[in-house]
Amino acid sequence: MKRRDFIKKGAGAGALALGVVGCGKEAEESANNTAAVASEAAGVMTAAPAVVSKTYEWKMVTTWPKNFPGLGSGAEFLAKLITEMSGGRLRVKVYGANELVPAFEIFDAVASGTAEMGHGGAYYWKGKDEAVQFFSTVPFGMTAQEMNAWLYYGGGMDLWKEVYEPFGLYPAAAGNTGVQMGGWFNKEINSVDDLKGLKMRIPGLGGEVLRRAGGTPVTLPGGEIFTSLQSGNIDATEWVGPYNDLAFGLYKAAKYYYYPGWHEPGATLECFTNKSALEALPADLQSIVINACRVANQDMLAEYTARNNDALNTLINDHGVDLRKYPDKVLEELRVLSAQVVSEVADKSPLAQRIYDSYTQFKQKAVAWHEVSERSYLNSR
Ligand code: CA
Repeated sequence: MKRRDFIKKGAGAGALALGVVGCGKEAEESANNTAAVASEAAGVMTAAPAVVSKTYEWKMVTTWPKNFPGLGSGAEFLAKLITEMSGGRLRVKVYGANELVPAFEIFDAVASGTAEMGHGGAYYWKGKDEAVQFFSTVPFGMTAQEMNAWLYYGGGMDLWKEVYEPFGLYPAAAGNTGVQMGGWFNKEINSVDDLKGLKMRIPGLGGEVLRRAGGTPVTLPGGEIFTSLQSGNIDATEWVGPYNDLAFGLYKAAKYYYYPGWHEPGATLECFTNKSALEALPADLQSIVINACRVANQDMLAEYTARNNDALNTLINDHGVDLRKYPDKVLEELRVLSAQVVSEVADKSPLAQRIYDSYTQFKQKAVAWHEVSERSYLNSR
C-alpha cells in the first residue's frame, strides 16, 4: 500500500497521528506538504512505509556533560525539537557523557546500534579516519558562516556522508560555537618557544599544530578538563569560549586567557544517526530528524553569539582574568605550521585528498567574498 493511499484510506487514525483535524483531503494535503519539506531526505535513502500510528523511542548519547550550556543544552534542544515536530511519534531521550557510555565511545555506540543518535564533534573520531577532522574545524580555516555554506551548498555534506558511510552512520551539522578562545595558560605566550614543552588539552588538527610547535597535545572530554588543569596533569587548555569556560570555572585554575581561537575558528558540532535506524523511519520522520539538526545548527550559534560577551565581562571583572591577544608573530608561525598539518591529512587517503581539495577551494572563494563583505564591513563599523 502506498503511503498516500494509506493516509487516504486510514483517514481517521492518520489524521489524528498527524495532528490534523478534519477530512481525509486535508490529511492528504498535510502529508504532501510534509513530503515537500523532505528536501535532503528525498532520494538519499530508503524509507520505511508510513505507518503513521507507529511510535519510535530513540537514545541520543553525547560527549557533553548532561545539560552543559550550549553543547549539552543544544543536544537537549535538538531532542526536544524532534519529539515536538513529530508530534511524539519519534521520542528522543538524551544521555550525557558517561550516563550510557563514556564520552569518546559514542561513535561506536551509535555505529553498533546501542544508541540511535550521537551528539559530539567530528574531530574526536580522527582515530577512525583522519579526514573526519575537516567536518569539525580546521586551524585558520573557515568560520561558522563559511562552514555552513560549504556543508550545505559547496558539497561538504556529501563528502561527510561518504566518510561516515563505512561506519553505518549518517552525519548532520547540529551546532556551531563560532570563533573559540585561544585557551587558558599559567604563563605568558610571547613567542612560539613559550609553547615548547607545554602539555595542553587541544583536540583535532589544532593539537597536531601544537605538537609541531614543540608542545604535547592531549584530548580530554570536557568533563575532565578542570580537574586535569587544577591538578597539574595538563599545563594549559582550550575549551570553547567565555560562556562555556566560565561554566567550567577554568579561571580558577589558570590566569591568562588568550585569543583568538586560531585552532577552532568556527567549530561545527554534529549529530550522527545510525543509518539503519534512520532508514527504518518513514520519510516524514527522516525529514524531521535531518531538518531539526539544521535548526539546531543555527540555534546554537545564535546562543553563543548572544552569551559570550557577558560571560567574558564576568570573567574579567568578577574573576580577575587576564585577557591577552596572541602576538601577531605567534599567530603567523602557527598559521604556517597549520597549513603543513592540514595539507598532510590530504595524503592519508584519496577521500581525504578530495575533502581537502573541496574544503580549500571553497575556503578560497569564501575568503575572497568575505574580504569584500564581512571583513570590510567589520573593519568599517
Ligand atoms: Ca575547543
